[in-house]
Amino acid sequence: MTDTIRGSLCLALDFGGTKLAAGIVDWQSGRVLREARCRTGEASGAEGQIADMLGLVDGLLAAMPAGEVLSGAGVSFGGPVDTASGTVLQSHHVPGWENLPLASRLSCRLGLPVLIENDANAVALGELYYGAGKGVEDLVYITISTGIGGGVILGGKLYRGNHGLAGEVGHMVVRPDGPLCTCGNHGCLEALASGLSIARRAQEALASGQSSQLLALAGGDAQAITAETVFRAARSGDGLAQKVVAEAAADLGLGIAMLCSIVDPARVILGGGVAKAGEQLLAPVRESFRRYAFPMLAERVEIVRAAAIDEGGLLGAAALVARAAMPG
Ligand SMILES: [Zn+2]
Repeated sequence: MTDTIRGSLCLALDFGGTKLAAGIVDWQSGRVLREARCRTGEASGAEGQIADMLGLVDGLLAAMPAGEVLSGAGVSFGGPVDTASGTVLQSHHVPGWENLPLASRLSCRLGLPVLIENDANAVALGELYYGAGKGVEDLVYITISTGIGGGVILGGKLYRGNHGLAGEVGHMVVRPDGPLCTCGNHGCLEALASGLSIARRAQEALASGQSSQLLALAGGDAQAITAETVFRAARSGDGLAQKVVAEAAADLGLGIAMLCSIVDPARVILGGGVAKAGEQLLAPVRESFRRYAFPMLAERVEIVRAAAIDEGGLLGAAALVARAAMPG
């Protein structure tokens, strides 16, 4: 791959559940030159998603000025992948992805070398090269959106672990008596502090009869409450919402404290849609982290927001091309 990379532009593709994004990115600087996005239904399956993605790509390629050359393509995929063979193992959201050789399919179609990585791992690399992890060798990236995932960078390199499951921070059990998780265990971080879990905690508190403006904010439909609604209500002083945010942040801080005892990173980077709440989330997470962490770590580890959230997947995909172009 190193020999084939000449220019500094690449195609960056982000398969994020039911959201697709494609971009032309300068992988040296992390600048997104142009991008296109669309939504696809789960029902369209893997083949439908590939067709939709190629539609976005064809649009970008048709608009490329003469003289621009792509040196490769990176793919950030929302599910486990085998990076060595470029194969998707499965999607958490969409059927038909099982053991699909996505890299070779795209490479044949595009005439470019294609690299593929799980999305949280890719975004961790993107933050390392272009974002909040610049200048740091050891970091943990945690994405807090519908679920919770993560990526671990050690010594400037992505650490995958023996089974490719390193950084699955969403399934660390932080409260053994906690709510049931999608994985079958109880009290995983994902079951306590993901976007869906924050919304569920608020819905449960409402159902127990506590008063709150949340219901009005969600148009009278408790099922329409999202994590974003909860943060908005908390900002305007709603006691129930503030309690839900505080509890989720406390659980995140505890999970991060546990992680840091093993990894000892310079920085923990929080991304994903829920991290858009910024300091409203980060400040109580830091407070909880300092309470639970080994004291020397509590003083030293920085907890910061990701530099790129909406474009994180595209930059993560570009980072794969950058990594392949680097010596060593
Ligand atoms: Zn779990």
